[in-house]
Amino acid sequence: MMRNSSSPNFGDPFFHALRRCRSEQHTSRGRKRKIRIFEPSRGSDTPQTRALKNFRFLWRYTLLLAVPQAVPSQVVADSPLAGEGSWVQPDRETLLTRLERVYAAGDCTASPPPKAGIFAEAETGVAARNIAAEIDGGPSDRFDGTGYCFLEFPGQRGSALEGQFFAQPPEVRLAEPDSGGTSRNQAFETERLRDWLDVGLS
Ligand SMILES: Cc1cc2nc3c(=O)[nH]c(=O)nc-3n(C[C@H](O)[C@H](O)[C@H](O)COP(=O)(O)OP(=O)(O)OC[C@H]3O[C@@H](n4cnc5c(N)ncnc54)[C@H](O)[C@@H]3O)c2cc1C
Repeated sequence: MMRNSSSPNFGDPFFHALRRCRSEQHTSRGRKRKIRIFEPSRGSDTPQTRALKNFRFLWRYTLLLAVPQAVPSQVVADSPLAGEGSWVQPDRETLLTRLERVYAAGDCTASPPPKAGIFAEAETGVAARNIAAEIDGGPSDRFDGTGYCFLEFPGQRGSALEGQFFAQPPEVRLAEPDSGGTSRNQAFETERLRDWLDVGLS
């Protein structure tokens, strides 16, 4: 298992949960599980694959979970909005960029918060309310850096890693996984499918 400063920073609870999940799998299925080693395909040469190729020396590990370093897309890196690291760097609370009346939200922006849909959704709402406030003079809004990420464990038990990602270091907690956590995750998915894609689940 690799922790890397360029990986999404979910904090220690995430890694404790992974370890627990892994030991539960060993207990229930024995220790004869074959572990596959990921190797980037030949011929590809990107910053991500170059980084992964450097993990070859780690093949002695029983388990390696590697997250490729996030890099901005070329269109973002080339834009006049790009700042440090070629990411867009809006004010992280108002989402306003250095250009007047231009807002940025989601994966094109620098972390924190982590690059995840839940943050993209929250940031976009704040940016939209601030744009509306500029136009109509209504109340403005600020993003506070809180968010969560669902985790599913064996046995239909779910939990969410929740936290305040603007804190230094991020203040993150993981609730004990249970069936209520799984229900919450399913309700979340149902809501998003309905509200974003107009898809109903029977
Ligand atoms: C495998 C995977 C699993 C994930 N799982 C989760 C999860 O469980 N929970 C979670 O919260 N997040 C998850 N994420 C992260 C989540 O998908 C992103 O954080 C989220 O989609 C970011 O939204 P966004 O709108 O900022 O960017 P995107 O969803 O990437 O949208 C950007 C859009 O811009 C378009 N685009 C790109 N270049 C151009 C161009 N030049 N011109 C026009 N359009 C362009 C793209 O086609 C795309 O439609 C996952 C991501 C991946 C890759």
